[in-house]
Amino acid sequence: MPVRQWDPASKAKIVLEGLKGKPETAICKRHRIKPAEYRRWRKEFLAKVASSFVSPRRPSREGDERSKALRVAQDLIEVLPIPVFFKARDGRHLGANKAWEAYFGVRRESFIGKTVEELFSQAPEVAAKHRAVDEELWRNPGARSYELQVPVRDGSVRHTLNYKATFTGADGEVAGLIGTIIDITERKRAEQRQAIEHRVSRILSESDTVAAAMPGILAAFCESLGWACGARWSMDPKIGAFGCEEAWSVDDPDIATFLAASRQSNYQPGHAGFIRRVLGTGQPVWIVDVSADDSFLRGAQAAKAGLRSAFALPIRLGDQVLGAMEFFHRERRLPDEWLLETGVTIGNQIGHFMARVQAEHELREGEARFRSLTALSSDWYWEQDEQFRLTSMSSRFVERTGIDPAPYIGRKRWEQPALNLTESDWERHRAQLERHEPFFDFEIERPGPDGTSVWLSLSGEAVFDEGRRFRGYRGVGTDVTDRKRAQGVLRAAYEELARSNAELQQFAYVASHDLQEPLRMIGSYTQLLERRYGDRLDKDAREFMSFIVDGATRMKQLIEDLLAYSRVGTRGKEMRPVQAQAVLDKALVNLRAAVEQSAAAVTHDSLPEVNADDTQLAQLLQNLVANAIKFRKRNEAPRIHVGVEDAGDEWRFSVADNGIGIEPQYFERIFLVFQRLHTRDEYPGTGIGLAICRKVVERHRGRIWVESAYGEGSTFHFTLPKIQKGET
Ligand code: ADP
Repeated sequence: MPVRQWDPASKAKIVLEGLKGKPETAICKRHRIKPAEYRRWRKEFLAKVASSFVSPRRPSREGDERSKALRVAQDLIEVLPIPVFFKARDGRHLGANKAWEAYFGVRRESFIGKTVEELFSQAPEVAAKHRAVDEELWRNPGARSYELQVPVRDGSVRHTLNYKATFTGADGEVAGLIGTIIDITERKRAEQRQAIEHRVSRILSESDTVAAAMPGILAAFCESLGWACGARWSMDPKIGAFGCEEAWSVDDPDIATFLAASRQSNYQPGHAGFIRRVLGTGQPVWIVDVSADDSFLRGAQAAKAGLRSAFALPIRLGDQVLGAMEFFHRERRLPDEWLLETGVTIGNQIGHFMARVQAEHELREGEARFRSLTALSSDWYWEQDEQFRLTSMSSRFVERTGIDPAPYIGRKRWEQPALNLTESDWERHRAQLERHEPFFDFEIERPGPDGTSVWLSLSGEAVFDEGRRFRGYRGVGTDVTDRKRAQGVLRAAYEELARSNAELQQFAYVASHDLQEPLRMIGSYTQLLERRYGDRLDKDAREFMSFIVDGATRMKQLIEDLLAYSRVGTRGKEMRPVQAQAVLDKALVNLRAAVEQSAAAVTHDSLPEVNADDTQLAQLLQNLVANAIKFRKRNEAPRIHVGVEDAGDEWRFSVADNGIGIEPQYFERIFLVFQRLHTRDEYPGTGIGLAICRKVVERHRGRIWVESAYGEGSTFHFTLPKIQKGET
C-alpha cells in the first residue's frame, strides 16, 4: 500500500480535530494514521503556532511552505470555536483566541502578562490546580490533560477538560505552553446525573422505608455535586404540619447544629417561607444567598453555619406533593436549571418509592387481614381454575366437615356425589358459572365420613386477571349441617302444629254446631213443659224452670260465640285492598243504636286503603268500638277516637276511649276466649269479643295489644302489614 504524503495544511486540520475534542483513536482510524505519528504532528503544530504567537511575526517569503502553513494554523486557531491560550515559561499569559475571550468574558489585552493566580483571584483552588500542572510540565515537557471546574463569564461553574502542551523556542529549550479548554459540562452532567440516579435507585432498592433511604440519598446528592448538606421535609396531613425528617451533612459541627435546630420544630403550611413554598406550589425554589433573603426564616442560623446558597424541591407523586428536599452550599451559587432538573427527577424517584412502600404496606396489611380472617372464621376458603376444577381448599374444610379434601382437588364440583341435587340442579349451577356470575348459599349435601351426610353452603365469585380474562372462581364454604337438621325438626314441628290446629278448629266447629241441637231440644221441651203444666207448677218449680231457660239461652249464646270464633279461621275471605274508612262506616251503622243510646262521640282519622278481609275488619272495628261504648264511665258520655299511623311497612290503628280502663295485670288475659273482668250483671257479654279481635288481627299477620290506665280509659292498638302474603 503506497504511503500517503501529508501536506502541512492537511496535517494542521487533522490536529485541530483533536484539539476540538475528537478522541485520538477515532482520528487515527479515520485518517489511517498511527497514533505516534498523530502525536508527532500535534507536537510540531503546537510548537509552530505557539512560537509564532510568542515571537513577532517575521515577514515571510512568498511560497514559503512553512510560513504558509503557519498562517493557516493561526487563522484557524483564531476562529476555532474552542478556547486556546498561550503561556510563557515564566507562567505569564501571552495570548488567547476569540473563543477564549468569549468563554471567560475577559478581553485578551487585560489578560496578557497575567499569572493564573491573578486571573482566578476569586477561585484560588482553580489557580492552584492550573499552577500544579504547569509546574509538572516545566519539569517534564510534553502534554497533559486534566479536568477542572472553573467559573466562567456568567458566574456559573463549568466542567472543563484542559489540555496543555509545552513548546520549544528557537534554541530548542521549552519556551512556554499552549492550552485548550474543552467544555465537557454537558457530558459531565449527564454522567453525574446518571451516577446519582443510579446510586439513588440502588439505595431505594435496598431500603424498606424512606427514612432508611434518605440519609444515603442526601449524601449521594451532596457528595456528587459538592453541596454541603441536605434534609428531607415531610408533610403530615394528620396534624396539618410539616417537619424536617432526615438530614445529611459534611463533617462540620456548625452545620450539624443548624440541621439539628431545623429538625426540632414543626411548621404550619402556607405560602411564605422556603419549604412552605415548595410544599404549597409543588415547584422548586432557589435562594442565592440565605443570609440576605427574608423569605428564608432560618437565615441567621444558616449564615452562622457558613451556608450561602440553598435550593429546595418537591418530592411528588403525580400531582401530590409528599414532601420536599433542601440542599445548602457554602458558596454563592446562581440558580442552576440542570441541578434543579436532576433534583426533581430524584424527588420523583423518591415519590414513586414512597407510593410503592405504601402499596406494599397495604398489600401486606391486606394479606394479614385475609390470614386472620381465614384463621378465625369457621368458614373455609376455596379456589377453582377456569375449568371449574378445585385448586385449593383451606384446612378449615376438613376441620369443620371431617371430609378429606384430597379427592375433591383437581375435580369439578359436580363430579362428586351430592345427595340433594338433581342433574338439572347441576345444569343450572354450571350455566351460572359459565356466565361468570356470583352465587350465594349454594347448598350441597355430601356424604360425610361417618355415614351421615354433611350439608355445605358455598358462595363464590368469578376471578379475572388484569386483562379482564376469566381465571376461575374463589369463595367460601360453610358447614350448615346443624342448621339443616334444625330446619328439618322445625318443619316437622310446624307441620304437626298446623295439623293439630286444623283438628282443633274442626273440633270447635263440630262441637259447637252439634251442641246446638240438644240445646234446642232442652229449650223447646222446657217451653212445652211450661205451656202444658205451667198452672200446675208451684212458685219454686216455675223459678227452677226459668233458671233452666236462662241457662239454655246463655249456653246458646256461648255456643254461637264459639262458632263465630272458630269461623274466623275457617270461613275467612281472601285479603284484598279495602277502604278502611268504608269498613268503619259499616261497623258504625251496626252500632247506631248503642251510639245513640250512650250519646257516644266517635271521631276518626282519615283511614287508608288496606289489604284485608273486609267482613273481618268490620267485625274487629265493631268489637273494639262496642267495647269502648260498653265499658264507659257511669257519669261521662263516651268519647271514642279511631286513629291510624303510617309505621313504614305496616299501618298502626288505634281505638281510644275515655272509659273505665283496665288494670295492667289483665292486659294479656282479656284477649283469651271467655275471659272477662266483670260479672254479667255489671256489663253483659261472654268474653269472646277480644278473642275474635285477636284472631282476626293474627290472621292478617298483625299484632293487637292494649294500653290503659285504670280509671282513665283504654287504647286498643292493632297493626296491619301493608303487604299481605296470603293466609296462614
Ligand atoms: P266481653 O265484652 O264480652 O266481656 P271482650 O272479649 O270483648 O268480652 O272483653 C273482655 C274483657 O276486657 C271485658 O270483659 C272487659 O273487662 C275488658 N274490656 C274490653 N274492652 C274494654 C274497654 N274498652 N274498656 C275497659 N275494659 C275493656
